[in-house]
Amino acid sequence: MSKEDINRIKNRLEELSKLINKHNFHYHQNDKPLITDKEFDKLVIENSFLEKKYPNLKIKNGPSDNVGGKSKNKFKKIQHKSPMLSLANGFNLEDIKEFDERVKKYLNIELIKKLDYICEPKIDGLSLNLTYKDGILISAATRGDGLVGEDVKKNISNIKNIPTNLKADFPNFIEIRGEVFLTKSDFEKINSKLDKKHKFANPRNAAAGSLRQLDFNISRSRPLKFLAHGVGFSSHEFNYFDEFFLNLQKWGIKKNDISFKSSNMSSIFDFYNKINQSRSNLDYDIDGLVIKLNNIFLQKRLGNVGKNPRWAIALKFSAEKATTTIQDINFQVGRTGSITPVARLQSINLGGVIISNATLHNFDEIKKKNIQIGDIVEIQRAGDVIPQVIKVIKKSSKNSNLISPPKKCPVCGSKTFKEKNEAVLRCINTYGCYAQKISQIIHFVSKKALNIDGFGEKQVQQFYELKFITDVSDIFTLKSFKSKIEALEGWGELSFKNLINSIENSKKISLDKFIYSLGIRFIGEVNSEILAKELKNIDNFILASRKTDVLSNIDGVGPKAINAIKDYFAYKENLILLEKLSKYLDIKENKIKNINNFFNKKNIVFTGTLKSISRDEAKYMAKKVGAKILSSVSKTTDYVIIGEKAGSKAKKAEELGINTLTEDMFLKKINS
Ligand SMILES: [Zn+2]
Repeated sequence: MSKEDINRIKNRLEELSKLINKHNFHYHQNDKPLITDKEFDKLVIENSFLEKKYPNLKIKNGPSDNVGGKSKNKFKKIQHKSPMLSLANGFNLEDIKEFDERVKKYLNIELIKKLDYICEPKIDGLSLNLTYKDGILISAATRGDGLVGEDVKKNISNIKNIPTNLKADFPNFIEIRGEVFLTKSDFEKINSKLDKKHKFANPRNAAAGSLRQLDFNISRSRPLKFLAHGVGFSSHEFNYFDEFFLNLQKWGIKKNDISFKSSNMSSIFDFYNKINQSRSNLDYDIDGLVIKLNNIFLQKRLGNVGKNPRWAIALKFSAEKATTTIQDINFQVGRTGSITPVARLQSINLGGVIISNATLHNFDEIKKKNIQIGDIVEIQRAGDVIPQVIKVIKKSSKNSNLISPPKKCPVCGSKTFKEKNEAVLRCINTYGCYAQKISQIIHFVSKKALNIDGFGEKQVQQFYELKFITDVSDIFTLKSFKSKIEALEGWGELSFKNLINSIENSKKISLDKFIYSLGIRFIGEVNSEILAKELKNIDNFILASRKTDVLSNIDGVGPKAINAIKDYFAYKENLILLEKLSKYLDIKENKIKNINNFFNKKNIVFTGTLKSISRDEAKYMAKKVGAKILSSVSKTTDYVIIGEKAGSKAKKAEELGINTLTEDMFLKKINS
């Protein structure tokens, strides 16, 4: 081995040691992993591979010697029996009035009718799903992605109000949901014992860091608390939330004592204000009020839209604000060509997060708020939303020019334009702009799309600049650049092999993820899922792009999305790209599940006003049993469900000789 090789390996081992330590810290102490578990494992594997191969080059106190760096973050994965949904947010009285109206409209009940809601403070902790079988705690899982979490049962065994055995009268099987948190005073105590570098930013981070400690002795030494707030799957059906809460008491599980039941949104809002005012007196952090329908039977009818239940909402306290100086304003060109002005700020700590950039949204906003470089501004950050500049607090003493919208794209120099009724400025060069191309590739490999591990922004840029990739299909021929990539700084034999493996693994993909990965405007996760379900395979998708009537007949896909699909396919290069991609990828067709129901795999159309349920609920019910909802009647329609005051669609059904059903018949058949 040459001296150069030895140095290269030594350097890599040093680098790996630093990386592993850094990520261990972010994962265990901060509970803010910067990379995925898989990426982390890769570093560890590479490290031990090199250590084994070159034992004489192994560094002292490397990751494998470090006990604190017990690197394998292995908690058992647990699939939740019913998904752990997340709540939609509201911010004012209007929002919750609308929420209440939406619930009633969906349930097809009069707006004056009263529905009881249970309200509780929204604790800023971590959700936990306790599963009891025959009264015995069998798992305690973190929320994870809502479907699969990690079992931290060992780590919560010292929490007093999580009994290992339920007392008396329990269902055979039940999922109990609640929040794990640290009180403010306990948080202070823990932090005072940690050295400066390891202190937690806030109680939530401390709770998370404690809960997901691999060394469960540390978890158990931290005084975590638990309060239950909901029920997942249960073998016994509860009729009301308050009935479930009474049972909790019997089983020995605590819920929040602060609770309020009302059907009146104004009284609920008063309660919210009261809680907000007394917030500082509580010994735990809260960030809003949770409002949930008391009637569990109605909850089930309401179901969910995407990841949000229709029957609950979080009324959030206002966002955290701070003031700082704008040091510069840059333009960012996004995946769809949108040009966003971004304020570069003097870094500031906002609720435990260091903020140095904030969006200025668009140029109209800059003008309206009269924002210039050097101004002192108020910024805010609400939840996971990107920080934004709210208003100018003090104008800069220097006279700098007002930022005006660029006539040319700051990246590719092409013309910029604004669409009718849109405030956003865009670069016209959709398929040639460097910024757009790069962000399209980044989108393609991202987590929700192809999910190629170890392929991030940096790698995309590097490979693009070196012309190893010019479009997303080139990702699948990267193998041919093996020696060139391995010779790049930060790359080696193993990291290249890992990348190729990740690329191979990404090739099996579901149709909805594939459609999403194309990055077509307005085609996000929800629309991709709808399109995949309706069109079933990629050929149908391409065919449909040429037929407006097919696309416009898909329930839930709006005209903007339809136009975007047509625009995408009107560009010849995209068709060629799709053809190339379908050669490399194994795109799974969406198969309709065989559900034992009359309407499974049937094409149905609703027309007229339904009496007992809303149109939305009828559609939701039909989709759940595998029916396809069409918006117009054609020869392919199997059934037309006719409500009151039905018009042209009923006539057309008659003309074409299509079976019609009344609302009662529909309900009878769907419920049997
Ligand atoms: Zn451009």
